Amino acid sequence: MSALENRVALVTGASRGIGRAVALELAKRGAHIIALARTQGALEELDDAIRAVGSSATLVPCDLKDFDAIDRLGLAVFERWGKLDILVGNAGLLGPTTPLSHLDPPQWNDVMAVNVTANYRLIRSFDALLRQSDAGRAVFISSGAGNKADLSPYRGLYATSKAALDAVARTFAAETQNTSKVKVMLVNPGYVRTKMRAQLMPGEDPMSLPAPEEIAPKIVDLCMPDWTETGGILDIPKGAVQRFREPV
Ligand code: NAP
Repeated sequence: MSALENRVALVTGASRGIGRAVALELAKRGAHIIALARTQGALEELDDAIRAVGSSATLVPCDLKDFDAIDRLGLAVFERWGKLDILVGNAGLLGPTTPLSHLDPPQWNDVMAVNVTANYRLIRSFDALLRQSDAGRAVFISSGAGNKADLSPYRGLYATSKAALDAVARTFAAETQNTSKVKVMLVNPGYVRTKMRAQLMPGEDPMSLPAPEEIAPKIVDLCMPDWTETGGILDIPKGAVQRFREPV
């Protein structure tokens, strides 16, 4: 029996990049994948790839800014499975790289909606379902950006959103650690060969960076039933889990 057989995993931003690679790795380990993103064609290609590795998927073509859709998805998962074993909050936007004072309010709202609010809405809709699992796991893909805003001018919107996501995930970890089996982790993937990275660094040789498939197994390890830590951040470039503080 595969390690994640009979487990249900929701991955946001599953249409490409890190999310797609994580979804496929979870499927290889036997999980049923609920794959969410806006691009239906890319989700259908992922569905084929998941079948090819012997697992199955439910496709959710949806914009995460449609917060009511997240609530409806929670209800649908409750009715079909009565639990969620794994939540990977991966979808994210870079947003414009420009001084804070040049940002238009709608640009600010878009990035905060996808990178922060959608993850809070996922927690709101799936907390009870994660607690129904015998090994609920929530992993949020962050960045080093929130911790080095002073070194990265013109990326303030992205940095702010990732610092806020870190706080959301750490709070969720603290709120679940004594009352459930749920484990909550953050990930700093480092620089990875994706569309987002190419948008940020168009002159960079993409082949100098790891492919999403190279880092996905490290992220999926945090989703396994035998993963024991909560409230930390897996820093992939450093190859270590960092804690913000010792557990109290
Ligand atoms: P990517 O290739 O641009 O993929 C982003 C994913 O998010 C896509 O699947 C996209 O799907 C989805 N998405 C974006 N907006 C959405 C929306 N409104 N509703 C639903 N889905 C949406 O980026 P990536 O590099 O793989 O990034 C994945 C995560 O890693 C992000 O949180 C990013 O901040 C983080 N990260 C990446 C790097 C890096 O070097 N690549 C470094 C640090 C952190 P659709 O367009 O189909 O909706």
